[in-house]
Amino acid sequence: MGSAADRRGFSYRTYFVSGHTVAATRHAPGEVSWSCDCAEFQRSQARGDAWCSHAQRVAAAASIDRLARSEGLVQGLLLQTAGC
Ligand SMILES: [Zn+2]
Repeated sequence: MGSAADRRGFSYRTYFVSGHTVAATRHAPGEVSWSCDCAEFQRSQARGDAWCSHAQRVAAAASIDRLARSEGLVQGLLLQTAGC
């Protein structure tokens, strides 16, 4: 169970939300840092926040993903919500 990256306690995944690329880096269980290429994220990062609506959407889907233990579920949810 889990990939080689998980065994090191570190994983990196990218998601595509509303035309933006969101990268989630997990340093430890429950400790995830986000990056996104949108202007909202850059403004947020300038405030020391590092957050945007795209990261929020991935995080919401990822929390479901953890419960379900299904990588495909996150991708499916993001596709369904990508229009807005
Ligand atoms: Zn964003």
